[in-house]
Amino acid sequence: MLFKKILIEKGAETAPLTQRVLKALPDLPLEWVDRDPVFSQTETIAESKKTLYLTRFKGELIKPCPGTKDYICCGYHILHIGSNCPMDCSYCILQAYFNQPFIRLFVNIEEIFLKLRTFVYRHHEEIIRLGTGEFTDSLALDHLTGFSALLAQELSSHPNVLVELKTKTAAIQNLIPAAPSKNIIISWSLNPSEVIKKEERGAASLSERLKAAAVCQKKGYRLGFHFDPIFYFPGWEESYHQTVQTLFSEIRPESILWISLGCFRFMPPLKSIIQHRHPKARYIYQEFIPALDKKMRYPQSQRVEIYRKLFNWIRTWGEEIPVYLCMENASVWGKVFGYVPGMGMPTLKEMLDQRVRGWWEKDAEIQ
Ligand code: SF4
Repeated sequence: MLFKKILIEKGAETAPLTQRVLKALPDLPLEWVDRDPVFSQTETIAESKKTLYLTRFKGELIKPCPGTKDYICCGYHILHIGSNCPMDCSYCILQAYFNQPFIRLFVNIEEIFLKLRTFVYRHHEEIIRLGTGEFTDSLALDHLTGFSALLAQELSSHPNVLVELKTKTAAIQNLIPAAPSKNIIISWSLNPSEVIKKEERGAASLSERLKAAAVCQKKGYRLGFHFDPIFYFPGWEESYHQTVQTLFSEIRPESILWISLGCFRFMPPLKSIIQHRHPKARYIYQEFIPALDKKMRYPQSQRVEIYRKLFNWIRTWGEEIPVYLCMENASVWGKVFGYVPGMGMPTLKEMLDQRVRGWWEKDAEIQ
């Protein structure tokens, strides 16, 4: 991680999390600002990633995942802990998403936890699934913040909450010393090694991710895996089949809470950013169709072929593991699985909630 500067919002310097980060990065120059900075005309995304901005969270802390109406959504909520990411995946949606620069980290943890408690109290009769990996990588700064351990401690008094920490790192060190939290699952985005090498700059290799997952498994954590984004390229079948085999050579199916599949998709403005910032990325020149959510997607027949094959490979290893599609439409679901959530059967949200409930009940019986 190559931060060159730390920016601190005035008033945020006394937060314990700020102090912890400053202690971990003692040699970096500091600058204070009165208000949130905006992108300058000349600043590049790459430069922007070299500044760490410590600030207080002011907006909406917990939001429903922005699922669109024609696509089947898993119904989880986003817990906003920071934005942007020190890694630099060529396809990252965040390149086109934020109008604020820098890697932002929210340091007013007490206030964040207070808002979380209010949210949990309001929904105390439901299972709440939250994720921190929507606007940043869940563990990319964890070695500086120790946030995952603080979160596990906070969640121990909320028996109906599950937080999914989604990552492309191997930064599990803060999750290992304590007993595994029943409120946390750690999940990894997976891609074949050649895709990781070419397109996921700064991220852990496939083998580092799976080794970290194996350590978490040994500790007793439940795990999730996300084949997302899946790319279609000559030889994709062999590459993804091999990746599925590698996954199951390291991880026991019983440790896996769910696996999701999602083909590469993008909002049109991202294309020119990828062309400009990642000129070697060829995947952007394939055939795409504009979908109902205005994203560009592979043609449906291609997506169905990809999902069917991945699903069958996964099934040969783990009959019981729920496999779901991230943001796909009913027609694709029907063609891949032969059923559509919410049509004469539980919704996807209910299916995943039930999976969590089943795990918690089984664990309670064992103890
Ligand atoms: S790890 Fe995730 S958030 Fe970070 S650059 Fe890659 S896609 Fe974006």
